[in-house]
Amino acid sequence: MRYSVNCNQCGQEFIAETETPGKQKFRCPYCGSVLLCQLGEDKPFRTKARSVLPLVDSRTISPKQEAKLPIAKVKVLAKVTSEKLQAMKQSIVEGTENVSQIAVAATNTTEEYLSKSSSKLQAFQEKYSDGNLWIFFGFSFAFILLIFVGLFICAQVVNFVYESHNLLFKEYIEMKNNLGF
Ligand SMILES: [Zn+2]
Repeated sequence: MRYSVNCNQCGQEFIAETETPGKQKFRCPYCGSVLLCQLGEDKPFRTKARSVLPLVDSRTISPKQEAKLPIAKVKVLAKVTSEKLQAMKQSIVEGTENVSQIAVAATNTTEEYLSKSSSKLQAFQEKYSDGNLWIFFGFSFAFILLIFVGLFICAQVVNFVYESHNLLFKEYIEMKNNLGF
């Protein structure tokens, strides 16, 4: 269906083309402002307390008019969502990089600690009579340290998952609002 729309910003007339009647967003081909248009019969909406843009009067058009006027298709939505998906993707990639960097740093410190202690083990055993006992305590301490590092990494991963879930939920709500459901 095609409808003639008068832009409420610049006053110019253009044709709005849509498959489904009801509320639709169109970008004015003259001034570029986004218009929320009521096309055809009024369909009931679940949410009512939201009027961001003023409704623009529209009416069916004659074939004579149709030849003269530019046509605007429903393209605003597709553009907005692809930009948002790109931003979402980027933030998720950044989050993953952060987690992997923390993991690499933690592994490096642990390896350093273990190699240092193993090179000194023999000398330590030879020097002190109760060296074995101290080595046992040392390894116990290293093990506990390893547990803490592991827990920290797990916490980071959980935090990352939780934040990306929140982000996705926010994007979902915004997308719903954009679609007008
Ligand atoms: Zn306009």
